[in-house]
Amino acid sequence: MPATIPHFIDGALFASAAPSLPVFNPATAAVIRHVGIADTGTVQKAVTSAQAAFPAWSATPPVQRARILFKARELMDQQRDALAALICEEHGKTLADADGEISRGLEVIEFACGIPHLLKGEHSPHVGRGVDSWSQYAPLGVVAGITPFNFPAMVPLWMIPIALACGNTFILKPSERTPSAANRIAAIFSEAGLPDGVLNVVHGNADTANALMDDPRVQAVSFVGSTPVAQAIYARASALGKRAQALGGAKNHMVVMPDADIPGTCDALLGAAFGSAGERCMAAAITVAIGNDTADALRDELAARIKTLRIDNGRTNPDMGPVITDTHRQKITALIDSGMSEGASLIVDGRTILADKPGFFMGGSLFDHVTPAMRIYKEEIFGPVLGIVRCNSLDEAIALINAHEYGNGAVIFTRNGDAARTFSQQIAAGMVGINVPVPVPMAFHSFGGWKRSLFGPLHMHGPDGVRFYTRLKTVTARWPDSLSDSAEFVMPVAR
Ligand code: NAD
Repeated sequence: MPATIPHFIDGALFASAAPSLPVFNPATAAVIRHVGIADTGTVQKAVTSAQAAFPAWSATPPVQRARILFKARELMDQQRDALAALICEEHGKTLADADGEISRGLEVIEFACGIPHLLKGEHSPHVGRGVDSWSQYAPLGVVAGITPFNFPAMVPLWMIPIALACGNTFILKPSERTPSAANRIAAIFSEAGLPDGVLNVVHGNADTANALMDDPRVQAVSFVGSTPVAQAIYARASALGKRAQALGGAKNHMVVMPDADIPGTCDALLGAAFGSAGERCMAAAITVAIGNDTADALRDELAARIKTLRIDNGRTNPDMGPVITDTHRQKITALIDSGMSEGASLIVDGRTILADKPGFFMGGSLFDHVTPAMRIYKEEIFGPVLGIVRCNSLDEAIALINAHEYGNGAVIFTRNGDAARTFSQQIAAGMVGINVPVPVPMAFHSFGGWKRSLFGPLHMHGPDGVRFYTRLKTVTARWPDSLSDSAEFVMPVAR
């Protein structure tokens, strides 16, 4: 019987009596361990611990909080191989890709190490006679993060470093499909000197997430996952009067102009569409070719190269590994079937590639002549499937993309500055690339989409991360020498 992953509460591992779920290695289809499901009692235990840790942690000077983050960054860097191996084993992505997501997470810790500067606030001396005023950023209290399977380290690290740096205490509910990285991250922060209770991990499913969100002591919820759940979480947290940010799904378009270099663009598209088996919220799902010549050239080059993709256990660092579960592979297969029946041309069929292997493998697929009415255009497939849509002009492409339900990333490949500028100004997406296939912002900018890719006003990490995890307090001060010597009954104004 494989071991069961415990929770991490109050600085220690905690095994609850509640039931557990199997965790698979997608490259072998074997159950490698189980993960405990935190019931309401276990969630409350974590919240109690986080609540108890809050007064001392929020009173710790930001510069001291930053020193713990510096240490955590060093420890995580030293332990990155073990962390990457865990991610590769449970997610299926390649070791190199897992290492890359750890690097992006470390960059958020580096950003959060600047917290004394980020929390400096605003000061206005002499706003009235003898009166000074300043605004300062206060932490919220206990905050929660609910994260998806596809970035077991990076997405939790979009949240944890900034939440903690701002003086909050944190409870993470990671994906039940890729749970192990969360405990490893919590252990590293603990080893770095984080006081017990400041960072806790409760494992489980939707019920666990809801129990966490419903606890009245939890002040704010950060969520990353699929759009239906993001919308439900945002509505539920908001109805409870909590601050919420909920990042959802995507359907990212890459426009290819007639002047683009086709081999270079195909290099970019292959990585963006098939890296991590397409299981990235910033994956290129649709390429919009401007003109039939561009579309034909892209189709021919992509078809040849998709057939040579190296697909294997992520441990061997191929181009891509398996998808997350057999159920997900079946969903992707059914969507490919729907594309065929709705009239798209299936140029490369990845449905049965490596189907005889025990893991959840499939090959890359390419569709041409995809139209906006098709399910493969409208829905997020979240797998190794790329579609070509043919348009006659950039204006037509922009109108097409802006009409889509999602607005996470959008990219243009061109040598024409005017086209690039028009695209970046007119496109309705939160993250835009100009000859950059996966335009994920660096940690000191903020990450988030538009439309149904994000619910809530604030993006993740960067300046929005600090805004999300703090609330503003404005103090107005006057000292006895300037106090008035009589009662004032009218609205105070500057004189
Ligand atoms: P998911 O929505 O199924 O699950 C995400 C998290 O929510 C998990 O922790 C899960 O346990 C929990 N959950 C699931 N159903 C719930 C419910 N009804 N109530 C409360 N909690 C619930 O997502 P996933 O399959 O793990 O991840 C893939 C999705 O995440 C894709 O849609 C992808 O685009 C999206 N994603 C978005 C971003 C982004 O930045 N916008 C980043 C990564 C992934």
